Amino acid sequence: MNSLASCIFCKIVKGEIPCMKLLETESVLAFMDIGPIAKGHCLIIPKYHAEKLTDLPEDQMKDILPACKKIATATRADNFNLLQNNGRAAHQVVDHVHFHIIPKPSDAGDKE
Ligand code: 5GP
Ligand code: ZN
Repeated sequence: MNSLASCIFCKIVKGEIPCMKLLETESVLAFMDIGPIAKGHCLIIPKYHAEKLTDLPEDQMKDILPACKKIATATRADNFNLLQNNGRAAHQVVDHVHFHIIPKPSDAGDKE
């Protein structure tokens, strides 16, 4: 469990850790994933620190889905997954709400 002070994504928001930034609004940041599982794998996060989606105030949510749509469109991937993990059993590693966009090559089938 990461507190706000030690949260790696809060440090990215504050510019204390570098990232390859894709999009920024008043409340949202999108950047490339440091360990991509597919070409173009990126992350969309609220700037507000909340561990899980259920902890995120609704007024911090309004820019997230439009940002996901913009990023997904920019990747030009016809096939992609929008993934959002909550809790260890659901494979959440970084305890700051984030959405993955994971492009899928159209010939990948279920292999990736
Ligand atoms: P989770 O499993 O929590 O849903 O995914 C966390 C994601 O954050 C992983 O895909 C991981 O590669 C990415 N990540 C972890 N630390 C950093 C970092 O310092 N910078 C960036 N850009 N991505 C990170
Ligand atoms: Zn955080």
